[in-house]
Amino acid sequence: MSVVALSEGTFTVDLSKKLIPFNRESDSLNERKGSLLIEICPFLIISNEGLIILDTGLGKKTVNGEFQIIENLSRAGINSTDINFVLLSHLHHDHAGGICYEENGIMNPMFPNAQYVFQKEELNDALKDGNPKSFNHQKLEFLSHWKNSHAIESNTQLTPEIYCEVSGGHTEHHQVFWIKVSENEKYFFGGDVLPQGSQLIRKFIAKYDYDGKRAADLRIEFGKKCAEENVTLLFFHSPEKKNSKVKFNEGRFELIANS
Ligand SMILES: [Zn+2]
Repeated sequence: MSVVALSEGTFTVDLSKKLIPFNRESDSLNERKGSLLIEICPFLIISNEGLIILDTGLGKKTVNGEFQIIENLSRAGINSTDINFVLLSHLHHDHAGGICYEENGIMNPMFPNAQYVFQKEELNDALKDGNPKSFNHQKLEFLSHWKNSHAIESNTQLTPEIYCEVSGGHTEHHQVFWIKVSENEKYFFGGDVLPQGSQLIRKFIAKYDYDGKRAADLRIEFGKKCAEENVTLLFFHSPEKKNSKVKFNEGRFELIANS
């Protein structure tokens, strides 16, 4: 397998959208009534065409003052300058907070040699949205000017391996990614349209989505396609299984272990 989970940790989130770190050993969910348990988990894919990051996470630092995502990468023997592509499903701060960081009043790219790929209309909408709980405008301004930014405008075959598909649902211009490393190794990253495997099992319409009905329909559509084509799903917000293949039988999904 050529995929590495780059988790920034487990958090709880409530209606205020604030993320609070959750320590599985010492914290109790009962004390955070009405909160959901989520993971923040960007991924690295090592492909024939280079190193791909799928969403960047919060840009959270560890107790050592190092960025968690950089520490995770170096554990895999990889440097931030080695990354070739940063693919962004959408620009909410928990997905795009790690695109860059501020030092002495100047924004620097987290992955200086990478092409940053995002939907142009997603950025336009995010810059117009005044809600600082959802977006980090300083970082998005950086993205709108950065020389390696690559704004795309519709479904795009970015490289022979990487296909960007506009899904909508979670945000109006949310996109998902299909990555075919080889005939036997294919990945699907559904961002916040399919952030947890359990969302294939438990059907629901989420209030936090731009178009909850569409997102719910898409989860089924994407799940079925992954089952048919033997694709591994990568889950950004799953506190349990971070990647899985899926079976679809008699109208029901079943997550299966990767072999
Ligand atoms: Zn989101």
